Amino acid sequence: MSGKKIITIALAGNPNSGKTTIFNNITGTRQKVGNWPGVTVEKKEGLIQKFGYDLKIVDLPGTYSLTPFSIEEIVARDFVLEESPDVVIDIIDSSNLERSLYLATQFREIDSKVLFALNMADVARSHGTKIDAEKLSTLLDVPVVFTVGNKNEGIDNLLQEAIKLAESAPDEKEKRNVKYSREIEKAILTLQELIEEKAGNTIHYNSRWTAIKILENDKIVKERFIGKAGKAGEEILDEVQALRKNLLMHYDEDPEIVMTDDRYGFIAGIIKEVQTTSAKERIDISRNIDLVLTNRFIGFPIFIFFIWAMFQLTFSLGAYPTEWIEGGVAHLSSVLSGSLNETLFKDLLVNGIIAGVGSVIVFLPNILILFFCIALFEDTGYMARAAFLMDKIMHLIGLHGKSFIPMLMGFGCNVPAIMAARTLESEKDRILTILITPFMSCSAKIPVYIVLAGTFFAAKAGNVIFAVYLAGIILSILSGRLFRLTLLKGVDAPFVMELPPYRVPMIKSLLIHMWDRSKMFLKKMGGIILIGSVIVWTLSAFPRNIEYSADYSARMDRINESFNIKIAAAGEEAKEILRKERIAAIGIIQNEMNSERSEKTYMGRIGKFISPFFEPLGIDWRGSVALLTGFFAKEIVVSTLGVLYSVEEPDDGEALKKALLSSGMTPLSALSMMVFVLLYLPCLATIAVIRKETGSFKWTAFSIIYSTSVAWIAAFCVFQGGKLLGY
Ligand code: GDP
Ligand code: MG
Repeated sequence: MSGKKIITIALAGNPNSGKTTIFNNITGTRQKVGNWPGVTVEKKEGLIQKFGYDLKIVDLPGTYSLTPFSIEEIVARDFVLEESPDVVIDIIDSSNLERSLYLATQFREIDSKVLFALNMADVARSHGTKIDAEKLSTLLDVPVVFTVGNKNEGIDNLLQEAIKLAESAPDEKEKRNVKYSREIEKAILTLQELIEEKAGNTIHYNSRWTAIKILENDKIVKERFIGKAGKAGEEILDEVQALRKNLLMHYDEDPEIVMTDDRYGFIAGIIKEVQTTSAKERIDISRNIDLVLTNRFIGFPIFIFFIWAMFQLTFSLGAYPTEWIEGGVAHLSSVLSGSLNETLFKDLLVNGIIAGVGSVIVFLPNILILFFCIALFEDTGYMARAAFLMDKIMHLIGLHGKSFIPMLMGFGCNVPAIMAARTLESEKDRILTILITPFMSCSAKIPVYIVLAGTFFAAKAGNVIFAVYLAGIILSILSGRLFRLTLLKGVDAPFVMELPPYRVPMIKSLLIHMWDRSKMFLKKMGGIILIGSVIVWTLSAFPRNIEYSADYSARMDRINESFNIKIAAAGEEAKEILRKERIAAIGIIQNEMNSERSEKTYMGRIGKFISPFFEPLGIDWRGSVALLTGFFAKEIVVSTLGVLYSVEEPDDGEALKKALLSSGMTPLSALSMMVFVLLYLPCLATIAVIRKETGSFKWTAFSIIYSTSVAWIAAFCVFQGGKLLGY
């Protein structure tokens, strides 16, 4: 690095304006992803050297304004205020100039050095929209550069301009800012003078901006600046009260509403000056597509079809690579079994690590395909339409359409699903969505249902599994309503569903999207599953020397001998039959021995200890342990059952089936167990994500306790209710 100071460039703009695309173009792969301290909005940062400068590029969260209604807006604003980047590049969607300029004018007010990137220049052109960049530049006194993010056009030029701006002296001249209505301007001026006089040294920002914000009743600014000023602050607040009251009387509207109108008026003026649209050329393809896809009658069936197609693709196309991976894992495991000596290490490697991690790796193809489809929905712009269509139904829970996206993804995996809740503006909506998403039965629970329903319900298995899924959906709706009425009171934040124009997605961006999410899944699951498998293995492999209640090997020897005598005396044909009988007889004893062994391992002891908790649900100690280990990942429930029932090959469905059928489990207790698996505490990876996304231990603990209580009560009702009905 050169000795020069680093120039910090922040990329800001509306969601979907192309920030991330441009960020990726500039930084290539040299980027760091983290979180803003204290909040869970993702932060992308890249350090590069270009044109002889060290540049630090920060991708700010997408926002429509700097009024702190959502975390994204607070983060973006705080970054500009507190970190004072040398330059803010406002990435503007040229095909939607009016909406973009709302944010742009607010950056001008903050007093930071702003540069406009008129991105999506190609889209604007195809709409027949012409933008007079030079005029825009002089009108707002801001340098303007045209870019096409996805083709990497104009990016170098943009960086050069940014550097030039960073190196320029801060301009002193009166900037061309929004002029508010006369009475408002007067109030701003009064307040500005008062602030400078009374609290000049506590405020290190532009005093006009501070005055505007306080007049708009911006809570954060009020607390942060006036709060610090002590007595003087209180005086200022009294004055603000009086000013706001006067303005309210004068305009018969809250001042902030008048000010918003003023900004739009200002913008409308700019648009008239700089933008011309030739109506003839204007082909609004998006609107035509929407006539069909969001149609009142056929929109919904089409949507259901897409979802169906997505799951179809995920599971049927995914089945092929899944088979290959299964084959690979089995092969690896048999090669290692064959070539290693019988040691504890081999046992750990084959039965612990490979069995455990292998059982998760097989889900990778499904996950990749599911995420690819979701990325496709997002990048084409269809996801917004889906949310729009679901809006009415989601209102039943007191949420709006946007919450549907995380819930839908929950059927795949809760980890990315809960992360997807980030797009919700209101914190209450986000927490509510995060709390009810785990009831959407994720794909990891499928193996459990298949084993239990397949064993105990045979031909009706499909219907039973469907009913379990349905129960999850109904309980999430009921829980949503309950929370809305109690813990997370309030109306859902009003919002306009943005319907961005349809775009042909870039395959590269789809792949990056897909990989970003899958990587997360792999990393989290990989680590946790690995640890979980080792723990499960350790608990079930120790202690090594078990004192058996009976001398099994002597019994086996005796059987062997008596058969040997019989075989020697029998004819050729009878010999064959006797040999088979001998194997079966010894197998029974072997199983008895194994099950006593597993009862006496640490795992067995834990199971016995916790089983009273599960007894009212009709679940025995083996089931209890399996459920306990399912905390690492739900798939492990099945492999633990396999271990506990001493099925030689846990993958062999038939053997486990037989063991389960002879274990005293009934269809009713199997159903109770499925219900419990559906609802009880989310897996470790999900809990970690809930903690990260809510930023609160309290909500995380609540989620765990709530879901487990619901699970217990529901399973209790199923089991005891079923018993009363005579099942
Ligand atoms: P962000 O939400 O601001 O980070 O936006 P993204 O970078 O994710 O971009 C949204 C979509 O717009 C992506 O599908 C990009 O490929 C696409 N995109 C970005 N820049 C342009 C552009 O200049 N022209 C066109 N046609 N598409 C673009
Ligand atoms: Mg982005």
